[in-house]
Amino acid sequence: MIRYLQSIFQHRCPTCGEPLRSQVDEWRCEKTCPNGHYREETFTHLGVRIVYEDGK
Ligand SMILES: [Zn+2]
Repeated sequence: MIRYLQSIFQHRCPTCGEPLRSQVDEWRCEKTCPNGHYREETFTHLGVRIVYEDGK
């Protein structure tokens, strides 16, 4: 359960632990690892969240 909550509020890269960089425009919020491990896009109008994680 704790892990589930952490995955919703992901603010650090799960691979390297760097803080994610966020970029927000009018209909999308994107968070990316500065080292390219992780990317998360949230489309607020659609209620859709997409996570891209680097392959292990
Ligand atoms: Zn990373």
